[in-house]
Amino acid sequence: MARSLLITRIGELVTNTPDAGGPPGTAGPGRFAAISDAALVIEGDRVAWTGPAGQAPAADEFLDAAGRAVLPGFVDSHAHLVFAGERSAEFAARMAGRPYQAGGIRTTVAATRAATDAELRAGLRRLAGEMLSQGTTTFECKSGYGLTIDDEARCVALAAELTAEVTYLGAHVVPAEFAADPAGYVDLVCGPMLAACEASCRWVDVFCERGAFGEDESRAVLTAGMARGLLPRIHASQLGPGPGIRLAVELGAASADHCTFLTDADVAALASSGTVATLLPGAEFSTRQPYPDARRLLDAGATVALATDCNPGTSYTTSMPFCIATAVRDMRMTTEEAVWSATAGGARALRRSDVGYLAPGARADLVILDAPSHAHLAYRPGVPLVHAVYQSGTPR
Ligand SMILES: [Zn+2]
Repeated sequence: MARSLLITRIGELVTNTPDAGGPPGTAGPGRFAAISDAALVIEGDRVAWTGPAGQAPAADEFLDAAGRAVLPGFVDSHAHLVFAGERSAEFAARMAGRPYQAGGIRTTVAATRAATDAELRAGLRRLAGEMLSQGTTTFECKSGYGLTIDDEARCVALAAELTAEVTYLGAHVVPAEFAADPAGYVDLVCGPMLAACEASCRWVDVFCERGAFGEDESRAVLTAGMARGLLPRIHASQLGPGPGIRLAVELGAASADHCTFLTDADVAALASSGTVATLLPGAEFSTRQPYPDARRLLDAGATVALATDCNPGTSYTTSMPFCIATAVRDMRMTTEEAVWSATAGGARALRRSDVGYLAPGARADLVILDAPSHAHLAYRPGVPLVHAVYQSGTPR
């Protein structure tokens, strides 16, 4: 029998499940829900019990949360962590008035191709460590800075060392050597590059945007990946309205990411589909673009996730608390909506039923805040509030 740990005197336990305390294995992330003056029992790598502190069962070990809030670990469903170099000069220039263009990705591609595996692994581990220390216990990681068969294959293999949520993004941008033959590059992405990457990946993604890949090219990339057993997700409508949302819904994508420029038809399509709208406020912060209209999506009934989009060009943050604070302050999400979207929403965007909530049967991924409620994540922006992180029941 696995050893059990009782965490008690929890000021606020965010459970994200309307039926907390139900039989093991029956729950998944539900709506935002929280219990005050609560307790939680971990058994092995799973949550075994949640409820009022006064009704908590006995356990082998005991932890006094002293009134702190406990949340599900954050689920960052969109990140680009395998790369070399950094682009602070580009950021500084942009803040001085120059608009972002998609071609900036090529700077990172050159640095990534020139890096050794050890250098890429060290950078990836450093960023994953930053994520964990800020409460992220599940993250997705994309390729997309190699853009050759060998470089994409090593990027997805490195990502697979750290996460099960690896995404093949050979279709991030057309590399310079294919500038005169973008169709030839799409053929490479859909053929031999996919074959070299698919074993390390769960997902296939495409940057569907003016200056990157159009509707037909994006459909070709996603359907090629789907034919090899990968699940689709998409970068859509970051820089302007486009066909990406419609395509995501048509193909049953788990998530359409960015959603910054949406038509009424896009919003209606997202609201009536199983495709999550993943909002990435770090990108708008770092490019000084208008934020996505979260209220319009939420009020229409769409499922919204928040993620970092961590990448060296347009959102070099690993901080889900930063994204929550920005979503509350500038996108008018409530504190409950933002925390839900950063936990349960991310789990839905990754089609995961074991994370993003805290109830019997869930993976014991949790964040203990040095604060009495989840609202402090937005109320105290920029302050390191993470007191402790448990991942699969283990303190990290
Ligand atoms: Zn991205």
